Amino acid sequence: MTLALFDSHMHTPLCGHASGTPTEYAQAALDAGLSGVCFTDHIPMPAWYDAPWRMRLDQLQAYVESVLVAREAFTGRLEVRLGLEADYHPGTERFVEGVLEAHTWDYVIGSVHYIGAWGFDNPEFVAEYDARDLGSLYRHYYALMEGAARTGLFDALGHLDLPKKFGHRDPDGYAALHALDVVAERGLSLDFNTAGWRKPVREAYPAPDLTRAAADRGIGFVLGSDAHLPQEVGYHFTEALKQIHDVGGRVVNYAGRVRHG
Ligand SMILES: [Zn+2]
Ligand SMILES: [Zn+2]
Repeated sequence: MTLALFDSHMHTPLCGHASGTPTEYAQAALDAGLSGVCFTDHIPMPAWYDAPWRMRLDQLQAYVESVLVAREAFTGRLEVRLGLEADYHPGTERFVEGVLEAHTWDYVIGSVHYIGAWGFDNPEFVAEYDARDLGSLYRHYYALMEGAARTGLFDALGHLDLPKKFGHRDPDGYAALHALDVVAERGLSLDFNTAGWRKPVREAYPAPDLTRAAADRGIGFVLGSDAHLPQEVGYHFTEALKQIHDVGGRVVNYAGRVRHG
């Protein structure tokens, strides 16, 4: 592996669906030969939104402290950064903005996990894909991604082509390219998310053709395993680097919300 690689997408038990302490994730990163990590646990949201899948607002301080404990423990061996995976859901922007102002973050991902009221990446609700027109589903989804890019709240968009998770692929692709135009225009990066290789689609987010389209637009890629277990840290990063380098793409990371690389 090349030097100075960061895994910038990983969770902690505070979200209720991950296990392992931040220190254990950091140790896994060190063992994998990485230079650093950035924790990006699911952001607190208003109490009525998706509560079982994230920390509460009153747990935010405990999250920050747990990451700082890991930072302290790995000083001089591994850089430990503090970030968030924020949700973009129209109507919640001001709440999100407040959370982002409450601390100094290194990196904030903007992700879309809902199309309307449907949590489309939840395996429990996968049957809903059969009731939808895939073309219009993807147009709706990428319009939300464009909205996320335009808020100015985020450094990168999370798992670009997430609705393919269970194998329902985008039948056309134009909406994705349009979203990439907005990402480039707004100077955002993309979360190059290797979790897709662990899902039924067996492909990273973004797909190879979208990786090329992003690289052609000068968009940088932030490597992330989306680890919910320590052993997932750095997952398939060699393959990720190959996919990015094959299309002349560049890997970047963030500290203090400033892009490096
Ligand atoms: Zn999660
Ligand atoms: Zn996500």
